[in-house]
Amino acid sequence: MKVFKFGGASVKDAAGVRNVAAILRLFPDEQLVVVVSAIGKTTNALEHIAELAYEKQDYSEQLNLLRHQHERIVQDLQLEANLDYFFDFILTQAEQNGGMPFPRFYDQIVQAGELLSSSILSMFLKAAGINNTWADARQLIYTDDTWRAGNVHWEKTTTAIQSQLPSLLNSGLVVTQGFIGVAANGDAITLGREGSDYSAAIIAHALDAEGQWIWKDVPGVLSGDPKKFPDAVLLPELTYYEAIEMTYYGASVIHPKTIYPLRQKRIPLYVRSFLDPTASGTTIATDGKFIAYPPVIMHKSGQSLISITPSKTTFVADVQMSDIYALFSKHGLRINTIQIAAQSVSIVVDYNPYALNPLIAELRESYSDVQIKENTQLQLLTVRHYDDAILHQLTQGKKIYLEQRSRSTVQFLYE
Ligand code: ASP
Ligand code: MG
Repeated sequence: MKVFKFGGASVKDAAGVRNVAAILRLFPDEQLVVVVSAIGKTTNALEHIAELAYEKQDYSEQLNLLRHQHERIVQDLQLEANLDYFFDFILTQAEQNGGMPFPRFYDQIVQAGELLSSSILSMFLKAAGINNTWADARQLIYTDDTWRAGNVHWEKTTTAIQSQLPSLLNSGLVVTQGFIGVAANGDAITLGREGSDYSAAIIAHALDAEGQWIWKDVPGVLSGDPKKFPDAVLLPELTYYEAIEMTYYGASVIHPKTIYPLRQKRIPLYVRSFLDPTASGTTIATDGKFIAYPPVIMHKSGQSLISITPSKTTFVADVQMSDIYALFSKHGLRINTIQIAAQSVSIVVDYNPYALNPLIAELRESYSDVQIKENTQLQLLTVRHYDDAILHQLTQGKKIYLEQRSRSTVQFLYE
């Protein structure tokens, strides 16, 4: 049994949906669970609709545009489908915001993207003679009620997947939604942006799949984003360890939560190109194996540097570090890198004024003798398996705010 994940770019138009069917045909007589993301940029559009609807503003233009995009694909695929059900559903969700906190409201609307894409794909495959059953991820993936970032309830989820999917797989493919599941109170929930990779990994884990395949518009995992680093090369093989490091430091090719459930069961992850489906791509499997990696570059923009300097006390240790960590975590800010010196501590986080401003206010209140400086709009570059040549090339002419080096990894924060 294999789990395939197709992202939004792979089904962005009718040609894309046809191409997915062609890829599935390359695996005849296989048991396949197909996890699909929302079409193209649908999730962004639904996010915007959710924001407008919550503020009781007019969102009809955005909703109509989304409807036309989906109807166009259905027409181009020559399906006799009517999408009224889905758009009525979005309207119903959008009109009922009575006192719901925004994140919960958001999830009720945004879930529609994957409901639409999976239904269209399932209908098209049927019309093309590929047997399949549409399975509802809201009956498979159980979470708590952390809206927009549901934490998986593994026991319930594993039981649901194991009791439903194997029998469906006996009569053809299973098509289901990435990114969505069901919260403790029975409402729909999302797993965090770009979470479909993770959905596929949850299913692969529960079913002890022989592998998970992620079909992308790039040839596999590259040593850097080719749009920013034209010398980037394909990495044919990665350990789970290396893949986790890369996603942690900002490689966006795979959702960071994806590797853990696969690693636990030693399930390999294959990252392949949907444009060139027989090319070998990247295989992520095993740990502890020696692989000679080229320098691997991860880049994050929109970084803030918070410098905290106590003016009276001499040593930073006197400003309780554990309090500072707790404060960042309380405000939902992940520390991307931290440097502690004798008389100052520098912390790098993603720029997010909604979380940062209250945090800084709280710091000032708790430590009246503390000076706080904030620099925003910085870039954080992380290089694994670096050498002098690549460091020279990457830092030349840049104003460096902070540098940190271990044997395998170096980070630069610059303007
Ligand atoms: N459609 C969702 C998003 O755009 C999930 C995904 O693409 O994986 O974030
Ligand atoms: Mg996506």
